[in-house]
Amino acid sequence: MNKEFKVRFAPSPTGPFHIGGARSALFNWLVARHQNGKFLVRIEDTDLARSTRESEENIKKAMKWLGLYWDEGIDVGGENGPYRQTERLPLYNAAVQRLLEEGKAYYCYCSADELEESRKEQLKEGKTPIYNNHCSHLTKKQIEQYKSEGRKPAIRLRVPKDGVFAFDDMVRGHVEFQAAGVGDFIIVKSDGIPVYNFAVVIDDASMGITHVIRAEEHLSNTPRQIAIYQALGYKIPKFGHISLILGSDHKKMSKRHGATSVDEYRKMGYLPDAVVNYLALLGWSPKGEREIFSREELISEFSMKRV
Ligand code: GLU
Ligand code: ZN
Repeated sequence: MNKEFKVRFAPSPTGPFHIGGARSALFNWLVARHQNGKFLVRIEDTDLARSTRESEENIKKAMKWLGLYWDEGIDVGGENGPYRQTERLPLYNAAVQRLLEEGKAYYCYCSADELEESRKEQLKEGKTPIYNNHCSHLTKKQIEQYKSEGRKPAIRLRVPKDGVFAFDDMVRGHVEFQAAGVGDFIIVKSDGIPVYNFAVVIDDASMGITHVIRAEEHLSNTPRQIAIYQALGYKIPKFGHISLILGSDHKKMSKRHGATSVDEYRKMGYLPDAVVNYLALLGWSPKGEREIFSREELISEFSMKRV
């Protein structure tokens, strides 16, 4: 096994298993098999209101139907568990405490109304709204005052105010985001639950993920995640953002275009090998004109370089 190569699929169990998710899972599985590396599956269920066990079961069942078995993660175990984010809160908390102690994160007592006010002001001035740093250097007295008002704080990361967050994306090439457009963002909400951007970094780092291959919609999250990697002194993985699956009207594939969940295709009678073959060709172009591939052929020929 190639220990230098580890990828993951990290679904949020908030509904039926969408074919877009299946394609992300497939690309990760293919590169892992191609590189003789490891494929991990983790459940990202910090959105408590929308996550269900039913959806989790559905995703796992559909992945097995497609033959996308994983080497580490939910159900199969491994040395970096647990593999469900709601069971990992103590780990996130330890990382947050370290950032607070090192002064790299701070409590923010601003109310939703105050934040909205500042947002509107910035928009009026034609600026991209970011946090106004109101709480970045509060005095003890101010903190006491806020506490006595019963305000529940969120926690924000101190983000560099200039420079860029840059990375070489496996699909998109060199990508840069201005740090000035990021701002000190929330890493733990006032209810004590870490946000996706924070949990994902702790997990990818502690699980030893070397390549993060995921949907394009996460591209704009990447600068925030890099800021967290840097604050914690963790090694930054390679990123690859794959384009969304669009309908014929160039809009994100939805119910309007027909079946969107893996389960619907199964019920219509499609064979798992056919679905795998079809999804592999959505975004990946093999050499030559060939359109039909066995699983073994996909594994041997698939490469992110041609995505
Ligand atoms: N849980 C995220 C999603 O379902 C994936 C996050 C990631 O791959 O970084 O969209
Ligand atoms: Zn604040």
